[in-house]
Amino acid sequence: MLPLDSDPIVAIATAPGRGGIGVVRISCGRVGETAALALMGALCGQALTPRHASYVPFVDAGGNVLDRGIALYFPAPHSYTGEYVVELQGHGGPVVLQLVLQRCLEAGQAFGLRLAEPGEFTRRAFLNDKLDLAQAEAVADLIEASTEAAARSAGRSLDGAFSRDIHALVDEVITLRMLVEATLDFPEEEIDFLEAADARGKLAHIRTRLDHILGEARQGALLREGLSVVLAGQPNVGKSSLLNALAGAELAIVTPIAGTTRDKVTQTIQIEGIPLHVIDTAGLRETEDEVERIGIARTWSEIERADVVLHLLDARSGVTDEDVVIDERFPSGIPVVRVLNKTDLTEVGASVNRQAVGGGETEVCEIRLSAKKSLGIDLLRAELLRIAGWQAGTESVYLARERHLIALRAAQDHVSLATDHAQERAQSLDLFAEELRLAQEALNSITGEFTSDDLLGVIFSRFCIGK
Ligand code: GDP
Ligand code: ZN
Repeated sequence: MLPLDSDPIVAIATAPGRGGIGVVRISCGRVGETAALALMGALCGQALTPRHASYVPFVDAGGNVLDRGIALYFPAPHSYTGEYVVELQGHGGPVVLQLVLQRCLEAGQAFGLRLAEPGEFTRRAFLNDKLDLAQAEAVADLIEASTEAAARSAGRSLDGAFSRDIHALVDEVITLRMLVEATLDFPEEEIDFLEAADARGKLAHIRTRLDHILGEARQGALLREGLSVVLAGQPNVGKSSLLNALAGAELAIVTPIAGTTRDKVTQTIQIEGIPLHVIDTAGLRETEDEVERIGIARTWSEIERADVVLHLLDARSGVTDEDVVIDERFPSGIPVVRVLNKTDLTEVGASVNRQAVGGGETEVCEIRLSAKKSLGIDLLRAELLRIAGWQAGTESVYLARERHLIALRAAQDHVSLATDHAQERAQSLDLFAEELRLAQEALNSITGEFTSDDLLGVIFSRFCIGK
């Protein structure tokens, strides 16, 4: 949990390491202007003109120059956090930035200046109504975006596209609620109400709009989270070769997601901007070797966590008894694509083939390709997009999070229940009104109007320091 107070805070806002420019940012909290003036005096030797770039020396307590750079002063409320903010843009060396930071802490000690927690600047921006919650999340998502498409849609969310659509929807819900609640006070008119106010038509419109937003948000969530794809199969069928073929087909190999960097066999690649976290695994087979067994056990736990499993086989031998055993162990509910590799060594070319199994309940997709000769890789990529549910040509999505999808689905459920109540012969207006209220509550949680401190703590603690 982040502290809820409004101490003055300071942090190095630029990434660690060396760079052309390094920024130290101070937000003055409740001490406000007094703190800002004292800090500017101590570090820059002068009170800065608001919103003007001043080229000044940054000095230590003895008046020695630590660095020279641009200082900016943003009086409240016209700043990122909505508080009095001072920004020192010096040279981006880790040591010189530490010196400037220490100097700030020393000069601000008298009024309780402390280091900022991760995300604390943005949290204040949210608390001071500079950003709503969906926009604040977009700040972190923009910084962490692993593909260009993800960055573009985070930019749209930050700009407020998602929030505006949610607000417009909430407005429609509120209008309908007002009509209903007004009618509740005059029970004798209930019967005519739904007709007269075209409540059903209004509700249907809300439903359509909600479905549309959820569709876009789902695509956006895909851009943010990506898909984890596990390569499984017997040894030597070509799993590692397929990973290379998939990665090689994309010019841009994106940065690995946090936590996977130590794992040498995970690579994040992208297909049409969707990050695919591809995990190469130990070959599955019966073995007495203890080390190999550990690798195989790990493979199975990767498979259980996967979004998609690619079951690789050698096209020459086809499905062997061992593969049938592997097949049977795959957890139900995770799509499996059977990949017959090394088709270059057979008479049959690359192809994709779908078969219904289990009385048409599930579909097995079988792709013949050659990892080594890069034949049929495009078929596999298309299949992966299909499984992901990606709608080709979707450009303007907003970068949504799982949290948003859950809220949108909850709103959808309440709207659907409201529709039921409106259709019953004995219309139940108070139940109708209650479902609308709950739908609105779910939508409001996206932009953060009534959000618990716990949730805020979780969201902002995942930011980087200085943001
Ligand atoms: P893994 O153990 O499943 O990861 O298999 P590898 O990717 O290490 O490949 C095992 C062997 O099969 C290597 O010698 C590869 O060059 C070869 N191989 C992989 N894919 C193909 C393919 O599509 N065609 C041919 N001819 N050989 C392949
Ligand atoms: Zn391998």
